[in-house]
Amino acid sequence: MKVLKFGGTSVANPENINKVKSIVQSSSKDKLAVVVSAFGGITDVLLNTLQQASEQDDAYKSGLELIEQRHIDAIKELIPVQNQSTILSKVKSDLNILETLLEGSFLIGEITPKLSDKIVSYGELLSSYIISEFFKAEGLNATFKDSRELIITDSSYGKAVVNFEKTDANCKEYLENDKHQIHILPGFVASSNDGNSTTLGRGGSDFTAAIVAAAVDASLLEIWTDVSGMYTANPKLVKQAKCVSHISYEEAMELSHFGAKVLYPPTIQPVLGKEIPIVIKNTFSPNDEGTLITKNTNRGGKTVRGISHVGNISLLSLEGPGMIGIPGISKRFFETLSLEHISVVLITQASSEHSICVGIADEDVDRAVEAVSKAFEYEMARKKIKPVIVEKDLTIVALVGDNMKSHQGLSGKMFSTLGKNNVNIRAIAQGASERNISAVIKKADVKKALNSLHEEFFEENIKQLNLFVMGVGNVGSRFLAQIRQQKKYLKDELQLNLRVIGISNSRTMAFDENGIDLEAWESILSKGEKANKEKFFDTVAHLNFRNSVFVDNTASAEVANSYPNYLKNSISVVTCNKIACSSDYALYKDLKQLAKKYNAPFLFETNVGAGLPIIDTLKNLIASGDKVNKIQAVLSGSLNFVFNNFNDEVTFHDVVKQAQEEGYTEPDPTIDLSGIDVMRKILILARESGNQLDIEQIENESFLPQESLDTNSNEAFFESLKKHEDGFQELFKEAKDTDSKLKYVAQFENGKAKVGLQQIPKGHDFYNLEGSDNIVLFFTERYPNQPMIIKGAGAGADVTASGIFADIIRIGNF
Ligand code: ADP
Ligand code: ASP
Ligand code: MG
Repeated sequence: MKVLKFGGTSVANPENINKVKSIVQSSSKDKLAVVVSAFGGITDVLLNTLQQASEQDDAYKSGLELIEQRHIDAIKELIPVQNQSTILSKVKSDLNILETLLEGSFLIGEITPKLSDKIVSYGELLSSYIISEFFKAEGLNATFKDSRELIITDSSYGKAVVNFEKTDANCKEYLENDKHQIHILPGFVASSNDGNSTTLGRGGSDFTAAIVAAAVDASLLEIWTDVSGMYTANPKLVKQAKCVSHISYEEAMELSHFGAKVLYPPTIQPVLGKEIPIVIKNTFSPNDEGTLITKNTNRGGKTVRGISHVGNISLLSLEGPGMIGIPGISKRFFETLSLEHISVVLITQASSEHSICVGIADEDVDRAVEAVSKAFEYEMARKKIKPVIVEKDLTIVALVGDNMKSHQGLSGKMFSTLGKNNVNIRAIAQGASERNISAVIKKADVKKALNSLHEEFFEENIKQLNLFVMGVGNVGSRFLAQIRQQKKYLKDELQLNLRVIGISNSRTMAFDENGIDLEAWESILSKGEKANKEKFFDTVAHLNFRNSVFVDNTASAEVANSYPNYLKNSISVVTCNKIACSSDYALYKDLKQLAKKYNAPFLFETNVGAGLPIIDTLKNLIASGDKVNKIQAVLSGSLNFVFNNFNDEVTFHDVVKQAQEEGYTEPDPTIDLSGIDVMRKILILARESGNQLDIEQIENESFLPQESLDTNSNEAFFESLKKHEDGFQELFKEAKDTDSKLKYVAQFENGKAKVGLQQIPKGHDFYNLEGSDNIVLFFTERYPNQPMIIKGAGAGADVTASGIFADIIRIGNF
């Protein structure tokens, strides 16, 4: 004999019930017990309706109507017209009783647990009856049996305790003697010794099926639900979760105890002793293999089998000097909770015996505090024990696996993964069986915690980075194009999965939790909501994704000022915006410290030399113990372009104009021509070499006349260049006469930095610098005479974008 159980979604509507019929029909020709849940959602509706009635809220009537509608509609759709009337009248008479019960609650203004069980049992009673009639009408050799006649419990309404002796005997007696092939039974419901309806706890239909299976020594228990088995984590929260094909009873029990709702925790117990295998299958994809649960067969196999979580948990701690060395405190504490019927989900005790801390359901907290405070009233009055400490809105995440005990380092890996992602751990526990390690964390961190742990333990090879990109102009759009082109390579070769979750320009912003389609980002962004930098940050923080990276492609000071917020939330920052690193030294230092404290890289390679690996090289030199003596560099692609093209046959004005038009200067060309941009760059290199320096300390002898520097519009600036053409021609002539070239040079030596135009003679490293190239010479203790030289294209959207890209890859390897 086999037992099949179909959950709420599997029987939610006539279409699904037809699927159930096909599954039952194609099952073996052996005797079958088919346990069904209430039509999906009906249990919740029944409980809400009762709640409303007891609060004397008329709205309960619409709940009742909804219940009526769903059942009557199902009959009309499933049963041939000629057979409908008897079934309709039976169901209507049940619904009338239900109505009377609800009216009773409305009039008295009260719910009792006994009434609640009576009312809620109608969900399963109606669904199983209708399904059995449907099966009969379809010609199956089926019959209905009320589980309340078989499963006997005590009177703990809401979650009654089964009397297995009586129940087993009843099930055996009935199922061995009744000759029908298919027996349809309502799940979840039972009856007390004195004949009242009881229930087995929310999700309890699984348990009904297991009780029946164990009683009749079934060959197999099949749990048919809306997912294809037990997954490595809840598939609704972890997209990458995978179905586990084979798992042990103990592992399944542990996972379900810690929240894997796919199986009601008590379900395993009855079948475990008899070694009846359980299979979890998907009603909506019956050919999927599903999960087989048997006794442990995974010796030497995978350590962590699944990650689960239980929400709505509170921590309750009892502590105080009076607890040390005094026997019996824990006993009293747990006894108190037990007498209140409060179930303890997790226990931790500090080795000093100074405190005991338990995890319980949020809903039990008030009762627990009251009871414990009362039980320890005497000690608390004498300050030997402190008042009970409560922390609410927490969640337990648990790693589960039979083989975890024989492996070191798992908890280290678990906690460092959570730590890296800024998930604060409130308490930890490891079961004596060493089959699970659990951590208590904030509710808001659950999704991030599950996904990072899943990535660490199940997707060892692929790391996902979630990018939030602000600024999609020249550089930003090239950057997005590069990600799109490289996506496959990154995944295949570097095991990095890059997803752009949010983008913004100055007008609009758009988010997609599943990753923005990079083929269509422009139209997605243009249809996005109004841009708002604070809201952008709030969204990034609220989404709380693991491995989040904020990418700043703007030149905005306001955006730069928001970096601390990102870093404090463990969101890495990658930027080509020089403002943060070149303004106040205190801000620069602060950002570096925040990055360290919150484990969130802050990278800005493109601040100097666009895509050239200048800062990274410098960092490596310093990290390996080298010391910088002197830096000499040509760091402005824009000025290089200008002076490489300027001669006595063109005007300075025209060359600058051309540079601006071809995108070699900042939108405001004075930032380049005044030398400010180069000052910022040498300042950053000086700071990265370990020096405390501010921009005001840098010497800058401008080659521009003061009048040009003082202009306040691009137009006026270009006008003034025309006016001073003679002066510029003079500079060119002086250089030409000495066979030199004009280069704008930055230098740092002995703690001092300066920038300015220089005549560079033939033979000098800078002489042959082409186009918009940059060059940096590092004179260090290791490279004292022959400097280390980095040279190459130092401006342009494409190389800058690739520099940002390289920083992101660095984070991926972090
Ligand atoms: P049924 O109504 O069929 O009893 P449930 O809703 O009780 O179904 O259980 C199935 C649900 O359990 C899935 O839809 C899924 O959201 C949830 N779930 C939680 N953890 C897991 C897990 N580790 N594997 C599979 N499903 C899980
Ligand atoms: N219908 C009940 C519930 O929703 C029992 C079950 O479906 O397992 O909790
Ligand atoms: Mg269930």
